[in-house]
Amino acid sequence: MTRRAAVLAVGLLSACGEGVATLGDDVVPADDALASTEQELISCAARSETGYENGRSFAITVVTVDGKPAERKTANAYALMQQAALRDGVRLSVVSGFRSMSEQRFLYACYVNCSCNDCNLAAQPGSSNHQSGEALDLNTAAPGVLGWLNRNGARFGFYRTVPSEAWHWEFLGPTPGPGPCDGAGGGSTSVLRFENLETGGWYTNGLWMRVQAGPGVRFVTYSSDGFPLGASEHRADGFSARYVFSSIGERAIVAKAYDAERRLLGEALVQVRVTAGEPSRGTLDLESPEDGGWFENGIWLKSRVSGAITRVRYSAGGFPLGESTDAAGRFPVRVTFSSLGWRVITAVGVDARGVEVARRSVVVRVSP
Ligand SMILES: [Zn+2]
Repeated sequence: MTRRAAVLAVGLLSACGEGVATLGDDVVPADDALASTEQELISCAARSETGYENGRSFAITVVTVDGKPAERKTANAYALMQQAALRDGVRLSVVSGFRSMSEQRFLYACYVNCSCNDCNLAAQPGSSNHQSGEALDLNTAAPGVLGWLNRNGARFGFYRTVPSEAWHWEFLGPTPGPGPCDGAGGGSTSVLRFENLETGGWYTNGLWMRVQAGPGVRFVTYSSDGFPLGASEHRADGFSARYVFSSIGERAIVAKAYDAERRLLGEALVQVRVTAGEPSRGTLDLESPEDGGWFENGIWLKSRVSGAITRVRYSAGGFPLGESTDAAGRFPVRVTFSSLGWRVITAVGVDARGVEVARRSVVVRVSP
C-alpha cells in the first residue's frame, strides 16, 4: 500500500507540472506487429532469478508471457488483464518484462553513452522496476491499447507510473484473482487465500484483510472467534476489509468465500498477532439494514457512531451508494439497487478531515 501510494504521488506531482521525468527507463517498445505474434502465450515453467530493488538483491520467480520473462505475480495479473482486454477486442502484449542486471547495465550504458537503444532513458542498474519484477512495457502504440489500459489497468493492479512513458506499466496490486501460474506447480488455483496476512505475522492494529479468490466468488466475509470483522463484494480491491480490534494480542482470522447464492465455496485461516497501532478514534455500527436479512429494494442505511466520526459513506462492491453528515438522523441514506441478490453494504465513518475512523459491513439479500 505504501509503495502504491508513493508511486501514485509521483504521478500526481508530475501531472501538476513538476516535471518528474524520473524513475525512468526504458526500451522503446518494439514493432507492435512483431510483438502481437507472440501474444496470449504464457508458460508457467518457473525459474529463479536475481531481482533488485533500490540496489538490494533478492530471489525472484520468473515465468514467460508473450515470449518475455516476467515476475510470476505480475504475469498472473497481466494474464487476467490480457483476457479481459481481449473480450473487449483489444490485444495486449508485453514488449519488455523482467530484466537481469546485465540487461539493465547494457541499457544504462546505451543511455549514458548515447550509443544504442536510441539513447533512451534507462534507470541505474539495480534500481529499475523492470529488475524488481513489477514493470512491464506494453504495446501502447497499437490501436485502442492505451485507452483501454487507462480505463481498466487499475482494476488489475496496473498503473502507469512514468508520465513520459505511455508504455511503462507497473503491477502494484492488489492481485486481481488467481492467475494461470498460481500454485507451486503452476496452474493450480485455490478458491481462497489471504494475500497480505500470514500465520505467525505481527500486524499493527487497524489491520486490512485482503484475499485472492477464485472465479465464482461473489463476496468474502471475515470473522474472529465467530465475531464478524467485515465483508466485501469488491473483487478488484481484493475483497478487502479493515478492522480495529478493541484489544491487541493473538487472533485467528477466518475468511469465507461465497457464491452469488451465498453458498460457501472456501475458507482460509491465519493466526496473527495484532500489535498496538493508532488508538481507536471512534466506533461505527451499521444499524440498518440488519446483517443476514432479506429486504425489498429501496433500503434505508443508518449508522450509529461515536468518537471523531462526522460523516458516513456507504458503498457496495466499490460503488458509492451515498453519504450523510446528519448525525441526529443516524446518517441516513436511501438506496435502490439495480443489481439484486446478496449484496455487501459497507459503511465507512470518517472524521472532519475525511480520514477513515471505522467501518462495518453487512451482507443482505435484496429482492425486487
Ligand atoms: Zn519500462
